[in-house]
Amino acid sequence: MGGLVFEHLGQIDMVNLSFMGGTHEVGRNAILLESNQKKLLMDYGVQIGDKPNFPGHVRAKDLDGIVITHAHLDHSGGVPMFYLSEPKPFFATSTTTEIMRVLLRDMIKLSGYYLPFEYIEYDIMMRNRNDLAYGQKVKMGDIEFSLSNAGHIQGSAMVDVETGGKRVLYTGDLNTSNTRLTHSAKVPRKRYDAVVIESTYANTDHEDRKKIEESFVAAIKEVLRNDGKVLVPAFAVGRSQEMLYVMKSHKINARIIVDGMAKAVNQISRDNPDSIKTPNAFIKAINGVREVRGWRDRRTALKKADIVVAPSGMLQGGTAMHYMEKLALDERNAVFLVSFQVPGTGGAKLLESGNFTIKDVEQEVKAKVQHFDFSSHSGKTQLRAFLRGIKGKPDVYVVHGESENCVGLAEWCRDELDLNATAPHEGDSFKV
Ligand SMILES: [Zn+2]
Ligand SMILES: [Zn+2]
Repeated sequence: MGGLVFEHLGQIDMVNLSFMGGTHEVGRNAILLESNQKKLLMDYGVQIGDKPNFPGHVRAKDLDGIVITHAHLDHSGGVPMFYLSEPKPFFATSTTTEIMRVLLRDMIKLSGYYLPFEYIEYDIMMRNRNDLAYGQKVKMGDIEFSLSNAGHIQGSAMVDVETGGKRVLYTGDLNTSNTRLTHSAKVPRKRYDAVVIESTYANTDHEDRKKIEESFVAAIKEVLRNDGKVLVPAFAVGRSQEMLYVMKSHKINARIIVDGMAKAVNQISRDNPDSIKTPNAFIKAINGVREVRGWRDRRTALKKADIVVAPSGMLQGGTAMHYMEKLALDERNAVFLVSFQVPGTGGAKLLESGNFTIKDVEQEVKAKVQHFDFSSHSGKTQLRAFLRGIKGKPDVYVVHGESENCVGLAEWCRDELDLNATAPHEGDSFKV
C-alpha cells in the first residue's frame, strides 16, 4: 500500500479537458485531453466558409496522438496541419480514414490556396494512420481509449477515455435513432466522470423516420407518374448512400443515377461492409444504381435517368449544380432536399424564395421544391434520453450546436439530472 502512495507523491492525478473549437457553433470541433503523462487531441475540424476556419492552435510537438470520431470535415479537416513537422499517430475506424481520403483531397483541391498544408502533409498523415475496430483498446502511457459506434455516418465513433481513475466520453456526432444505413448508437454501460456531447438538434425533435421515408417515396412516385425527373441533392457521405438505399427498399421502379463524390463513398462502403447495418441488401441496392462517369457521360446521363442523387446536399457546388441547370425550369420535375440547409446556401435560398442562380442569373424555379427532414443526428428527446441513461454523476460539456442549443441542453442537465453542466467557450479548460 505504501508503495502506491509513494508512486503518487508529488504528482496529483490530472485529467484536463480544453475546448479548442466547436463551442457555441456547429463546425471545427477540437477537444484536448491531458493526463499526467499524455496529451490526446479528439477531432480537429475545419469550418469551410469563404476561407477555412480552424480551431485554436495546438502545437504538434505537444501531442501524443489524435483520435478522430468521423470523417466529416468539421471533425477531421484540420488534422493534416499536425504533419508539417513531427508526425504523430492518428486513430480512427478504417472507414473514417478512407472517407477522409476522399473529403480531404477534395478540400485541398478546392481551397488549397487558403490552407496551411498541402497534399504532402496529407500523405504523411495517411502514413501515420492507425485503424481501430469498435471496442479495440489503445494504451498510450497512462491513457487508455477505445471507440464505439456513434450511429451518425459510416464508421462514426464515440471516444471512451480512461485515465487517472477517471472516465471521459466524447460523443462526436451522435445518432441513437435507427436509419437504414448504420446501427444506432447505444448508451455505453460504464460510469463516467465527464461527458462531452453534441447538441445540433438539442431543441428540436425530428419527425418519425418511417413517416419521412414514406412521404419522400410518395412524392417521388407522384413526379415520375407525371413524366417528371427528380433531383435529390445529398451529402456525398452518408445521406447519398441512405437515399439510394431508401429508394431501393421501397422498390421505386425507376432508373436511378448517382454522381460526384458519392460514387467514391459508395465504393468505400462496399469495401467496409462492417460499417453498414445490413451490408448485403445495401450493396445490392447501390449496385443497381448507375454511376455517372465524367463529363461526357454527364451531358447525356439525364436522358436515361428518372432520379439523380448528387452532391452537394445544400446546392453549393458539386455535380448537383449541373442537374439543377437541366431540371429546375420544367414544372414536371422536382428538387427534393434531404439535408439540413445552412442559411445563406443555395438550398436554403431556394426553399425561402423559390429562386436559384442558374448561369449567373437568378431564376424562378418551376420544378417542385420540397424539404425532407432526414437527419443523422439525435433529436432533442434522444439526446436527453442518452444523457439520462449514462451512469455515474458525470460533468457534462455541451458542444457542436448553435449557442441556444448548447446552453439549453446544459441547463436541462442541471435542472433535470442535477449534474454539473456547461456550454464551454473556445479556450476554456476544465479539470475532470
Ligand atoms: Zn458529422
Ligand atoms: Zn459534426
